[in-house]
Amino acid sequence: MIQVAKVIVDVPTMQTNSPYSYLIPKQLENEIQIGMRVVVPFGNGNRKVQGFVVKIEMETINTEKLKKIESLMDLEPVLNTELIQLSSWLADTTFSFRVTCLLTMLPNVMRAKYSKQLKIVNDQISKQQLAAILPSTSWDNFETDELSTLQQSELSNLRKQGKIEIVYRVKNQAQTKKIFQIESRLSVDQETKILASLRKNAIKLRQLVHYLANHATKITQTSLENKLNITSATIKIGEAKGWLIRQKVEQYRDPYKDVKKQTLPLTLNQDQQHALDEISQNIDKSQPQTFLLEGVTGSGKTEVYLQTIAYALTKGKTAIMLVPEIALTPLMVSRVKGRFSKKVAVLHSGLSDGEKFDEWRRIKRHEAQVVVGARSAIFAPIENVGVIIIDEEHETSYKQDDSPRYHARNVAQWRSEFYKCPLVLGSATPSLESRARSERNVYQLLRLPKRINGHPLPKVKIVDMREELQAGADQNFSQPLLEAIDSRLKISQQSILMLNRRGYSSFIMCRDCGFVLKCPNCDISLTLHMDSHSMKCHYCGHEEPIPKQCPNCHSRKIRYYGTGTEKVEQELQLKFPKARILRMDVDTTRRKGAHEKILRQFGEQRADILLGTQMIAKGLDFPNVTLVGVLNADTALELPDFRSSERTFQLLTQVSGRAGRADKLGEVFIQTFNPDHYAVQLAKTQNYENFFRKEMYIRHQGKYPPYYYTLQITAAHKEEKMAAKKMYAVLNELQPKLSSQAIILGPTPKPIARVKNKYYYQIVIKYKNEPNLHAAVTKILQESQSDYRQGIQLSIDAEPQSFM
Ligand code: ADP
Ligand code: ZN
Ligand code: ZN
Repeated sequence: MIQVAKVIVDVPTMQTNSPYSYLIPKQLENEIQIGMRVVVPFGNGNRKVQGFVVKIEMETINTEKLKKIESLMDLEPVLNTELIQLSSWLADTTFSFRVTCLLTMLPNVMRAKYSKQLKIVNDQISKQQLAAILPSTSWDNFETDELSTLQQSELSNLRKQGKIEIVYRVKNQAQTKKIFQIESRLSVDQETKILASLRKNAIKLRQLVHYLANHATKITQTSLENKLNITSATIKIGEAKGWLIRQKVEQYRDPYKDVKKQTLPLTLNQDQQHALDEISQNIDKSQPQTFLLEGVTGSGKTEVYLQTIAYALTKGKTAIMLVPEIALTPLMVSRVKGRFSKKVAVLHSGLSDGEKFDEWRRIKRHEAQVVVGARSAIFAPIENVGVIIIDEEHETSYKQDDSPRYHARNVAQWRSEFYKCPLVLGSATPSLESRARSERNVYQLLRLPKRINGHPLPKVKIVDMREELQAGADQNFSQPLLEAIDSRLKISQQSILMLNRRGYSSFIMCRDCGFVLKCPNCDISLTLHMDSHSMKCHYCGHEEPIPKQCPNCHSRKIRYYGTGTEKVEQELQLKFPKARILRMDVDTTRRKGAHEKILRQFGEQRADILLGTQMIAKGLDFPNVTLVGVLNADTALELPDFRSSERTFQLLTQVSGRAGRADKLGEVFIQTFNPDHYAVQLAKTQNYENFFRKEMYIRHQGKYPPYYYTLQITAAHKEEKMAAKKMYAVLNELQPKLSSQAIILGPTPKPIARVKNKYYYQIVIKYKNEPNLHAAVTKILQESQSDYRQGIQLSIDAEPQSFM
């Protein structure tokens, strides 16, 4: 019997979901634990790779052939057994590699980097010869894919001949921040004696002695220097004389150290209290029940979250609260920190890698009991969870685009079952999937129908842009909106303008009648493709020429449609030369902290107008904003996606909620070419329930979620025919295993057919119950590893949130 570690290795070209067995070196037998990272030899060349220990077993079989673990990367496990277990489920349900899942759960700095080194073997070639291929400055660290193909082939030849070798080294990037801490060695009664031994004019030293003799508590070196206005030289003398001990200690980088304001729980209204009671009961009973908390903006959902968390804490448990990245503003953080102060750890992408690493360690060491963060915070290494909350649960940002393509809601559900604790999904406009589940009592529905302050929802006016254009307005601004902006400028109130510009390729629309060309098979708008000069359906592959006139009214004013925020900003400045305009979009918020800076400027009323993409729709709460304008409600509506109505309704409802938050009444203008569309009409009255019924009917007719499940398989390759060929092979393998009920769309090119010089082909499967599907797709994924050498990348997305 011998102890063996099961290791999931990090080998990107041949990833594998089953662990390899490794011998544990004698010296490490008592050290090694599940959840540690190790360095192991792998493959014929025995190159060193990182791996995760997922199991430790006694084996009796012939273990002589087993390789040995080289070294440990961690001195304590970085993942606990719950998360190791979760990674296995995650890999299985998202059709991804297990090592990718394990790495996803770790902070960035802990994802190992490999450095590749070139070494000449036994002087078989000269340094000059090798330098002629690759400059010697790069020998210590190079990336294969950054070399030219000539370099690649020459190096690979030398390697085959055994003249050079490539050595891999695993680098651990995780580093803690260290500071010096000072501890006094002096007591009060020593002071006079020491002072007497010092010269009268050694003022700094005397100050130091006086301080040390009278302060027993530890202090950082920097604070002490500042406090006494002394230099490190003085402190070093004190250290030499034995008056103090200087010690290097780890310090957390605390990005929110300025948040100090304490807030108290509010007295809940009846609906809030009911919600809190229901959730608390499930905390008491250890029930993994999922709740859908449906409440209009300003109905007090956040207060319910906070008091639920407080309740879990009183029971000695912890809590996770997810917020969309974009809503994770300093304001949001201070609301939570104001209630739970030091118990809170915050994880989001705005933090530096070092800051994230520190927050992660605070959680792991049980120093934080409440985790607030964006999507990936659902993997926080927190234990003993009492409640999980997902705010704005309908947000698409909860689904990850890259492998593992997980939805935070599903991971939350898994963890809620593991810890037997309730999961709370909150939204003003729940996703259809969640709302439908509450309809069938899978989720328990809790409602907050009224705004806390009793204020009416803002007045929403729909502006018909077809009429406006005919009356001579320009493309972006209708007369009523311009007048409204002008009136706000005159009385120093603020306006928010949204140009909802998402998607990449644009669409074609008739300026006279608003007609948008749709697919005859799918009831989804066709997308203009400039490369092929045609209109294409992104679902079924239907294709037709670009119309020269409107098929509906025969007008020739059928145009490519689309305008950007930058253009609009210029136009706006021309129309209102004195207005102070802030623009917020991907371009203006790329730099760290830029997003917060813009919001702060606007909040301090140093600007009159905030113009932005849908980025501005979420969570903003500015009391002086009395006007919201949506410049074009149609861009979201006409995306070739069955969720386009849902997205439009959510966005319009959300952005409308930005007006008139405080005492001043708000007004909203929605400019649209589709004033009669139900998503626009129902957003006007913010009638979620009616929208839900109508949209469910349409999804039922079209056989879309939540009535059907969807699965998307995509192949990418530099050559179009290779990607297409792969997808047909996948289709042939799948089809016989599916029932006649399953609907397979494609293979078709993806809407954006070529990205970064690769072509994308996809099939989409719509299905209700296909017992063989999971195994068949897993097999396809495993087999795809051998295609990898030919450059074919296969990806699988269960329940994709976007088909672009
Ligand atoms: P939501 O998250 O649904 O948008 P919030 O929780 O942010 O709503 O509440 C909106 C406003 O009402 C906040 O300023 C909050 O402090 C306040 N509020 C919430 N609940 C109460 C309450 N029970 N009594 C008084 N004010 C409340
Ligand atoms: Zn027309
Ligand atoms: Zn179609």
